[in-house]
Amino acid sequence: MPINKEQYLTLKKLLDTSHSSLIAVSKMQTVESIRELYDLGHRDFGENYVQELLAKAESLPGDIRWHFIGHLQSNKVKQILGIVQLIQGVDSLKLLTEINRQAEKKGMIQDCLLQVHIAREETKFGLDEQELKRILETDASVFRNVRIRGLMGMASLTADEKQVADEFEFLAGLYKSIRGGGRKDFDILSMGMSGDYSLALKAGSNMVRIGSLLFGSRR
Ligand SMILES: *Cc1c(COP(=O)(O)O)cnc(C)c1O
Repeated sequence: MPINKEQYLTLKKLLDTSHSSLIAVSKMQTVESIRELYDLGHRDFGENYVQELLAKAESLPGDIRWHFIGHLQSNKVKQILGIVQLIQGVDSLKLLTEINRQAEKKGMIQDCLLQVHIAREETKFGLDEQELKRILETDASVFRNVRIRGLMGMASLTADEKQVADEFEFLAGLYKSIRGGGRKDFDILSMGMSGDYSLALKAGSNMVRIGSLLFGSRR
């Protein structure tokens, strides 16, 4: 299925004026569709599954910036380091520790976002406020090979806009207070998807992750 070019250009313009970046979520979309968006100049793509990401990264241009936005298992960290720009779904101390360990082995520093659980649904991954605090208070010398660039969150899947807006406001509040605390390199607030990005932008998101709106529904 061809990508929605008009939608992309309109969205891009809107996001540029709101100083927000766009991650095109290409999970379960074809290499051809990704290539179409690439040819329009787009470089930031989000993937959820390790094997799929590796296969796509191998057959697409090397200047694509891949974002890992899915739930990452610790035993798979090794496979994606050096390939992904940003690991967005860091949802446990264990995972962050493993990313740090593998990055150290490779002699690199990996950019990460901490995923916070903001939705009502139990099924969505993410840290609670306490776990987030614990990670942020960990001495910087422990995590020399990761750079925590900000927060990521997914709102509840509901038609209740007030609920979604409240969840985004909550995450934005956490983001602002951490940033206000003077934390270095902390400058990304990743929230908003096809169905709720307007609410996310209103709450202060500066990175949205959009799939179906650009690519159509997933295979
Ligand atoms: C799939 C996915 C998206 C994109 O969802 P759409 O509704 O297709 O825009 C965004 N973020 C995450 C974490 C996802 O898994």
